[in-house]
Amino acid sequence: MYEKTLTQLAAALKSGEFSSRELTAHYLQRIEKADGKLNSFISVTAEQALKQAEIADNDRAAGKAGLLTGIPLALKDIFCTKDVKTSCGSKMLDNFIAPYNATVVEKLNAAGTISLGKTNMDEFAMGSSNENSYYGPVKNPWDLKAVPGGSSGGSAAAVAAGLVPAAMGTDTGGSIRQPAAFCGITGLKPTYGRVSRFGIIAYASSLDQAGPMARSAEDCAHLLGIIAGHDGRDSTSVARGVPDYVENLNAPLSGLKIGLPKEYFGDGLDPEVEKAVREAVKVYESLGATVRDVSLPHTHYAIPAYYVIAPAEASSNLSRYDGVRFGHRCENPSDLIDLYTRSRAEGFGEEVKRRILIGTHTLSEGFFDAYYTKAQQVRRLIRQDFLDAFEDVDVLMGPASPTPAFDLGAKKDPVSMYLQDIYTIAINLAGIPGISVPAGLAGGRPVGLQILGTHFAEAQLLNVAHQFQQATDWHLQRPAFAEEYA
Ligand code: GLN
Repeated sequence: MYEKTLTQLAAALKSGEFSSRELTAHYLQRIEKADGKLNSFISVTAEQALKQAEIADNDRAAGKAGLLTGIPLALKDIFCTKDVKTSCGSKMLDNFIAPYNATVVEKLNAAGTISLGKTNMDEFAMGSSNENSYYGPVKNPWDLKAVPGGSSGGSAAAVAAGLVPAAMGTDTGGSIRQPAAFCGITGLKPTYGRVSRFGIIAYASSLDQAGPMARSAEDCAHLLGIIAGHDGRDSTSVARGVPDYVENLNAPLSGLKIGLPKEYFGDGLDPEVEKAVREAVKVYESLGATVRDVSLPHTHYAIPAYYVIAPAEASSNLSRYDGVRFGHRCENPSDLIDLYTRSRAEGFGEEVKRRILIGTHTLSEGFFDAYYTKAQQVRRLIRQDFLDAFEDVDVLMGPASPTPAFDLGAKKDPVSMYLQDIYTIAINLAGIPGISVPAGLAGGRPVGLQILGTHFAEAQLLNVAHQFQQATDWHLQRPAFAEEYA
């Protein structure tokens, strides 16, 4: 069962090849056998999943099944799940049982999907390697010495290892696309505002966006159709109809204009990654697309602007963890200040503290204009670069990451870790959508081709990604690890 894509599983459930209960039990068993080695889950909600599966089977028998009724999924532990621990990868929220469901979770439940549990992640979604989790690092199933990418590393590793057919992630600066690339799966970051952020623990509110991580673009199309849409509880969600993302998947690509940003093929790009990406572009040419070089001249400023804006928003969002309202509280505080400071000192990890300090500094009087205002101005220029490029081309293509997955422990200083995000971060600053699709191997580790479109071009991105997956089979390749638990 685990070798099937979500789309194939949905067809098998429909034809009665197996029940949702059997399917759910199959994945739970794989998690039990394999996840000791990967550490991709923080919580496994087996009992609840089997109960949901039974309901799904009954619904199907009663003729009430939707397309994805009975399909097991996993949720990054950043989505609030009613009565289930929601830790955000942090000691601070290790004792937090969410009292309500995120909108994404509500919509998935309403569609009849089943949650197997909550996946591991970098603490408060800060990181590019999943080494910042309070629950320990996640391993990459392609090579247990390698990181799975971050911050949605648990979701990516679990899907790649066949522990679940698809999972939800969030992406603030690359956290869906980069782990998807590192683990050889397909991951879509939608346009800012396409998916409700209600009930998703906030990192940087003007950048955060949830999206699907699965084996194929077709799988992502099914899932995006469920989770997208306006939500009155998120004032930044956009009131705009949700198209049928599946309907458009087979549109022909003849005449598609592809731009290759020259800044995405410069210094620091691993030659094998570059080769895989250029091969992928050739596949598009054979499908009738035309290719030209374009420039995104402010790319160079994306990382500095992001590392002002994201920590500024994080320092504000994370001020709610004060040891009083919820989350970790220190023992025997001597007074209120001691309660605040010790609860925060004990509850947050090193990277989170670093960002709170940076954010507090850049927002403070005297520095605000020099850093925060300036970064917002730069952000506007970066957005304009993309809008200008989309005047001339339909989509942009390049690598999702400059290198394949690196080894655990390899990036020792924060700046070299931040530089990992060079090809993903500008996309969040501009608010546009992006997808990473498997496009080869470099040194035995997966390479992700990133495809970018203008605001609300998800249907087009999924179509472009799907056509590549009809012409190649990189997305169907599996690490040997997945077969060990067949
Ligand atoms: N790696 C980036 C960061 O650490 C992006 C993380 C994310 O998208 N959540 O902030």
